[in-house]
Amino acid sequence: MSDCIFCKIVAGDIPAKKIYEDEQVLAFHDINPVSPVHFLVIPKLHIPSMAELQPEHEAVMGKVMTAASRIARELRCTDGFRTIVNTGRVGRQEVYHLHVHVVGGPDVLPAMLKR
Ligand code: 5GP
Ligand code: ZN
Repeated sequence: MSDCIFCKIVAGDIPAKKIYEDEQVLAFHDINPVSPVHFLVIPKLHIPSMAELQPEHEAVMGKVMTAASRIARELRCTDGFRTIVNTGRVGRQEVYHLHVHVVGGPDVLPAMLKR
């Protein structure tokens, strides 16, 4: 998807603070963090949102979730973290490339609850 900002990050066309990358998954810090730890994990494949998930995406989405867990551990989210997937208009999704937010750190988690 040539007009998708996260596809451009995958392609290296725009910069991002990458945390982890393999053939199918990319994790990077959110450009506008709401908490000391706020990163995004995406499938490299352009899937617009959680509403478009199909059975053939099960393997890559498993990898997205395991990467999120492992990175949260590595970033010392020992007291837990919030995992958010905004979907579509009702979910107030802003970037239409499926992504999992991982938000950790003390006492600021309500900031992710959109109004
Ligand atoms: P959502 O679509 O779930 O509402 O949120 C999209 C998230 O992507 C926001 O938290 C926003 O800060 C982040 N974001 C948007 N554009 C960029 C970008 O170019 N780079 C990075 N690292 N994050 C971005
Ligand atoms: Zn995309």
